[in-house]
Parts: sequence; C-alpha cells; structure tokens
Amino acid sequence: MHEYSIAYDIYATARRAALDHGATEVTKVHVDIGEMSMVNPEQVIFLFGTFGEEDSLFAKTVLECRKVPVKARCACGYEGTERYVCPRCGKLPEIAEGREIVVTNIEIETGEA
Ligand SMILES: [Zn+2]
Repeated sequence: MHEYSIAYDIYATARRAALDHGATEVTKVHVDIGEMSMVNPEQVIFLFGTFGEEDSLFAKTVLECRKVPVKARCACGYEGTERYVCPRCGKLPEIAEGREIVVTNIEIETGEA
C-alpha cells in the first residue's frame, strides 16, 4: 500500500532524527504533502499512529500534515498553478513543487529540564 510505505518513511526519518538528538519522546512531526502526491493524509496519519503502539518514542506523536499546492514552471518563463497546459505558450509545464512528501520539522522531548 502506497500510504503505508509513506507513513513508514516518515516514521523512520523522524526516528533517526529523534535518536540523533537524544529524544525521549517525539511530540510532533511536521510533514509537507504535495497536492499531486496522490496521498490521503488521513490515512497516513492513521498508519503513522500504529507505529506508536510499538515504539514508545512515538506513543504520543502528533503528525501535522500540510498540503503543498502544485507549482508548475515552463521553459517560457511561466510559473503558476497550471499543470497541464502552459497558459503562455501551450506546452506542457514541468511540475516544480507539489509532488513530494517531506518531513520538515520534528518536535521532541529530551528529558532534560
Ligand atoms: Zn510556457
């Protein structure tokens, strides 16, 4: 399942970063989800939650998903949200943003006061 591997990637990325910083708990993970990534954020959030059942670092983690709109760019210089036909020259623009899923930030507890 597409969403499962994505949720797992987010989990693995956040886990690595958390351990690098000596986290005792991960409170929040921020993720950018591109509009064109064809991913259902609700499902990713649900699946991500299942990792917390077996990993105490993630027992209370909130997954914050932000939708990133599509940004297309064309050789003629056009930049905007038209993703199939360039309104200036009629060619197929290149998708510059909106296809990726990126962990942008994680919030952790280190157990130090
Ligand atoms: Zn163009």
